[in-house]
Amino acid sequence: MQTNECPKCQSELRWQREGYHCDFCQVDFTKVAYCPDCNKEMEKLNACGAASYFCHDCNELKSKSRAKTNFVEMRSN
Ligand SMILES: [Zn+2]
Ligand SMILES: [Zn+2]
Repeated sequence: MQTNECPKCQSELRWQREGYHCDFCQVDFTKVAYCPDCNKEMEKLNACGAASYFCHDCNELKSKSRAKTNFVEMRSN
């Protein structure tokens, strides 16, 4: 099981509708997945209830377990 920790303060992030939220930093994060083969950002697909990722550079599906994920701060408008 992967823990979702804040890249700023290492405390556990809380899931909120559209993304992750750090109560301590008052910042929202979104999870971005990168291709394990070419390191490009991948598109998240939800098929059959299981999340998987598609790399437009490799032009193929990548399994969630191989994806490298990173939390990226969301800018509020
Ligand atoms: Zn934090
Ligand atoms: Zn790729």
